[in-house]
Amino acid sequence: MAGRGGQAIILLGPPGAGKGTQAQRLIETRGMVQLSTGDMLRAAVRAGTPVGLEAKAIMERGELVPDAIVSGLIDEALSRTPESVGVIFDGYPRTVAQAESLDRLLEAHGRSLARVIELEVDEETLIDRIAGRFSCAQCGAGYHDRHKRPRVAGVCDVCGGTEFRRRPDDNALTVRTRMAEYRAKTAPILPHYDERGIVARVDGMAAMEDVAQEIAALLPV
Ligand code: ADP
Ligand code: ZN
Repeated sequence: MAGRGGQAIILLGPPGAGKGTQAQRLIETRGMVQLSTGDMLRAAVRAGTPVGLEAKAIMERGELVPDAIVSGLIDEALSRTPESVGVIFDGYPRTVAQAESLDRLLEAHGRSLARVIELEVDEETLIDRIAGRFSCAQCGAGYHDRHKRPRVAGVCDVCGGTEFRRRPDDNALTVRTRMAEYRAKTAPILPHYDERGIVARVDGMAAMEDVAQEIAALLPV
């Protein structure tokens, strides 16, 4: 069934697999938009909305926010996105119930799912990647305590900003909970899409550029 709208893809993989980074590339190269429930929830927490108040403690523990909340956020985001613009789901769906909701939402918004791309990674490496990351408070550029420090200490390479942020859930304990949630609740949604023959698996441990190229090759032109 072909949707009327721009293509939709899902980036799937455990926390720290590089979904956000790859989504950023697709935004730049293809003019798609990224729909990240994690970003939406963090914005709600900062704004102190009812959703944010409910989500805050759950996120700090690394557990999953209720399905109805995140599916509601996605519904709103799809309503705001012009039909012709392609969308990348990042961090959604994360449970079988969310995958079922997404099927209904896509249909309601006249879109179809072109691909589900699973980034395959090594969990121990990921824990190291996540438990050291931070970003520029001004432009969002990503850094890492050990692997990617700013060229000048305390100054963002990209925008010159001097304030940085760390996610409160990027600590080793919470990261392990997030991994366990992924394995228990998110990985089981793959058969839902495997049946339709739209899943592609990409080596998420490869260099960022190589991952980006592999993903590009998997998408319809
Ligand atoms: P990561 O993939 O690095 O764990 P995200 O930014 O996608 O980070 O998510 C951060 C947190 O936000 C999750 O640990 C969870 O608490 C909450 N969250 C994000 N997306 C969802 C979702 N689709 N369903 C339930 N909880 C979510
Ligand atoms: Zn910056």
